[in-house]
Amino acid sequence: NKQVLFRSFITGAPREENMELMTAETELMVPAGSGAVLVKNLYLSCDPYMRGRMREYYGSYIPPFQPHKVIEGFGVSKVIDSDTPSFIVGDLVCGMTGWEEYSLILKVDGLRRIEISDIPLPYYLGLLGMPGFTAYVGFLEVCSPKNGDYVFVSAASGAVGQIVGQLAKLNGCFVVGSAGAKRKVDLLKNKLGFDDAFNYNDELDLDLALKRYFPSGIDIYFDNVGGPMLDAALLNMRTHGRIAVCGLVSQHGVSDPEGIHNLFCLISKRIQMQGFLQSDYLHLFPQFLDKITEYYRQGKIVYIEDIVEGIENAPKAFVGLFSGRNTGKQVVCVSED
Ligand code: NDP
Repeated sequence: NKQVLFRSFITGAPREENMELMTAETELMVPAGSGAVLVKNLYLSCDPYMRGRMREYYGSYIPPFQPHKVIEGFGVSKVIDSDTPSFIVGDLVCGMTGWEEYSLILKVDGLRRIEISDIPLPYYLGLLGMPGFTAYVGFLEVCSPKNGDYVFVSAASGAVGQIVGQLAKLNGCFVVGSAGAKRKVDLLKNKLGFDDAFNYNDELDLDLALKRYFPSGIDIYFDNVGGPMLDAALLNMRTHGRIAVCGLVSQHGVSDPEGIHNLFCLISKRIQMQGFLQSDYLHLFPQFLDKITEYYRQGKIVYIEDIVEGIENAPKAFVGLFSGRNTGKQVVCVSED
């Protein structure tokens, strides 16, 4: 059973050396009376929040990984043995699993059976998984979009951002995205239906860049990055604008976080700025699945993934999230069936 173990706590950005590949003897049978399932992991998800689990406990909403133990994350898996009536052999499930070929899952209430068959399996880690849900509640519940709103999304081609942009278009908004590479900007404009997009690495002055794309200001900023981009967005918000603080990926591993200088804009422009956690909205998950599945089937939403093959490449894929190596949702294919 090939496994990826967490080595030790980190302070800066994650590196491949923080994880190690091992092979363990694993009995491919569920212990009788355990109520567990044994799964074969097919696809594993790389998500930026996992970096937070590599730090020593600091009062976060989620506990840290344990050194020398298998890394945990979202996955799509196949049940190969079961000691619970909730799942039978052959079921496809998604939920928390281990970064390994086979996992014994004791807490089965976090697993969801995958019923719909015409959707690509890795989409359950992105479009129809936690990132898609984050985009759905973050945009529709936190940002309260209105027809004609001017919307700006950072890390726009990523797992969350690409859905925010498409939801903005479906809600009659004008949407511009920022990303860190030309290939991503091209995708935003040509495949994901953004009205416009720019590469923030090409801009000397982010404030001027935003003024170019939003000459009359921004109603909604969906912030995936924090740092200098948030600071520039604050200057460009319209009165009564809304900022959803989804993530601060530019600040992960920055020991001396870059300052935000423009918070006064919150007051002068009566901006509503709200942090949120997708897990506070789980009652909306069934509605989200129905709605996004319908959009996908109607061809109203597309989804871009970056799939690497082989569990041995999982550490590199994860680390790549923090330098923008991924184009779209980062998934690791462990096995196709
Ligand atoms: P992505 O798929 O967007 O991958 C991360 C991307 O972040 C990279 O591809 C890169 O894109 C960008 N990035 C990395 N480093 C920097 C940097 N220094 N400055 C600016 N951009 C950077 O990730 P997700 O879509 O999965 O997550 C997006 C955000 O949403 C994250 O901050 C994450 O923590 C947050 N999140 C929050 C949740 C919540 O409940 N609040 C739930 C899920 C995610 P580029 O090349 O364009 O720079």
